[in-house]
Amino acid sequence: MGYLGNDGQTLAFEESLKYKDQIKRDGIIQFLNLYKKFKNITYKETIKNIVYEKYLPIHWGDEVEAHIVFLDKESKVPKIVPDIHYLFQRVQQDQQEEPEDVNFKLVPEYGGWMIETTPSNPYYTINNLCAVPTNLSERSHKINSYLNSGQKVLYTSTFPILGQIDQKYYYIPQAQNNEHLNQVTQSLFIDDRIISDHPRFPTLSSNIRTRRQEKVNIRVPIFKDKQTNIEVSQYNPDPDFIYMDAMAFGMGSSCIQTTFSAKNLSHARRLYDQMSIISPLFLAMTASSPIFRGKLAAIDTRWDVIAASVDCRSPEERNPSSSKYIPKSRYDSISFYISDEKRNLPQYNDLKFPLNEEIMNFAREKSKEMGLELDENYIRHLGFLYIRDPLVLFEKKLNVDNEKETLHFENIQSTNWNSVRLKPPPSMDSKIGWRTEFRTMECQITNDENAAFMLLSHIFVRLFYQSDSLNFYIPITKVDINFQRAKQVDAITTQKFFFRTNIHEDGEPIIEELTLHEIFFGKSQVFDGLYQYASQVWESMMQEIFGSNGNNDKTEFEKVWNFIRQRTSGQKFTVARWIRNFVKSHPEYKQDSEITNSIAYDLIEAITSISEGKTQDPNFTPIF
Ligand code: ADP
Ligand code: MG
Ligand code: MG
Repeated sequence: MGYLGNDGQTLAFEESLKYKDQIKRDGIIQFLNLYKKFKNITYKETIKNIVYEKYLPIHWGDEVEAHIVFLDKESKVPKIVPDIHYLFQRVQQDQQEEPEDVNFKLVPEYGGWMIETTPSNPYYTINNLCAVPTNLSERSHKINSYLNSGQKVLYTSTFPILGQIDQKYYYIPQAQNNEHLNQVTQSLFIDDRIISDHPRFPTLSSNIRTRRQEKVNIRVPIFKDKQTNIEVSQYNPDPDFIYMDAMAFGMGSSCIQTTFSAKNLSHARRLYDQMSIISPLFLAMTASSPIFRGKLAAIDTRWDVIAASVDCRSPEERNPSSSKYIPKSRYDSISFYISDEKRNLPQYNDLKFPLNEEIMNFAREKSKEMGLELDENYIRHLGFLYIRDPLVLFEKKLNVDNEKETLHFENIQSTNWNSVRLKPPPSMDSKIGWRTEFRTMECQITNDENAAFMLLSHIFVRLFYQSDSLNFYIPITKVDINFQRAKQVDAITTQKFFFRTNIHEDGEPIIEELTLHEIFFGKSQVFDGLYQYASQVWESMMQEIFGSNGNNDKTEFEKVWNFIRQRTSGQKFTVARWIRNFVKSHPEYKQDSEITNSIAYDLIEAITSISEGKTQDPNFTPIF
């Protein structure tokens, strides 16, 4: 989530404008210094003890975001708990006293009630897939043990009644009266005190609003049920849409992400492109966001809500007929492929998208000066990242040593919230190489589901480790259409997605429109399905490493795919569908799209009970 150091005050947007050009140029210089130092570094050089040369183990890790909630039995209003400093203190204390007992890192998130956890050490895997469900389950047990009484961890994308206006949905002990602070957000719904108190977060919120020249304007189509009848008011300006007006509605939702070390820079760029193509498919499979601001939505994912919640584009940049038009928010799918392989044909980059030409020229000049040969695809990637301005500047960090620090590059990089991210080594003295992050998945209810999707992303990365010929390229505008489809209700079973079926050939793609089940498990005469190919690769890898009787991890591999088979065939519901069904069968639901406080209470109670393993639900049976 970007720079979270302890360096005092942030600058207001007008003030930051004075430094923006300098910060951007410094960022490019910092990147070029990183590039110079690490462009030829290979992953092999950074790891020790390579036992299986051909099957390089992969360093990788996950991020799991979640909500800390309080189920208030008296009022039957579920609440978020925006003040969880105590939790951070307890974890920190344990990490100092019993370091081997704490297998995760805890970091703050945008919402003061949110947590993000990552494994304390990255996974290091060829075959031990079960490390992931084990790590996640130990992690969540441990976090549960730190929680104050009555509090729970809610693992799902959105807190369903965030922004509800008739009841306090947040729990701030020192503010029990009805005062509502909104200087930062100027929101009708969000109290500023629910935002994390690190200056980065409120500054992001207000600087996005200032740059945009108005509050963010989030409109999600409402799910029209039999009795849905929205009365127009300032809170509901349009009866067809759920209206939201603050960053918290988007950045207050939870996702899961995975980050993979690549063999080298070129391989990281390959992973970036190839994983970006399958990223909307993962969005559809992990859909878990059918409710926003206490209403059922006619979409299943958080994606558009976050995009709109941090949409800092000025009115001109949002106007399609202006020369300054930028078609997407800084949170959205990528707009250019970046690989330097021949297979990345120019016609795949068919999206008309603006670039920061000035920065590209600067990068060209500087790299020449530094004796670097930075290719045009990479320069264009920088031009894509740098159409955005810095949003948060720290007054004590305006001038840093460009030879030693990467802060100003990270400033732009970490606020381009895209479907995938190419991560250079994190610092000038880093031992970590080039990585690619996979960023579209929504948070699931159980550790096993989260683990299964993380492992599926890892399996795809493994395929790109093993095969130089695997090729998912389709024109990038088709990937964007896939994103539109992925957000629809029950997209996992009802939508078709553009997919390349000649996946072992370069040159012109053969593109079919297939359901997710067909993409993964095949369609007769058309496509064999990715499972078949992945399974062959896995099998031969296991045979070679362990022999036919040795340690064979095929079972964990099969468990992942069985789960995917159940989800994509509709045998198991997505979290979004399961939540919709729960709401529909709740006695208090009046077929009016409204999630009352007690429906939300019962829903959260049911979800947390399933997460904790206290309730067995046929839709969430153990996977591993
Ligand atoms: P960000 O929020 O910028 O995405 P985080 O620090 O939250 O970054 O997450 C980084 C992820 O990268 C974690 O899952 C971590 O386990 C993983 N990771 C750490 N070291 C490596 C490595 N050498 N190679 C690949 N992944 C790594
Ligand atoms: Mg993170
Ligand atoms: Mg991340």
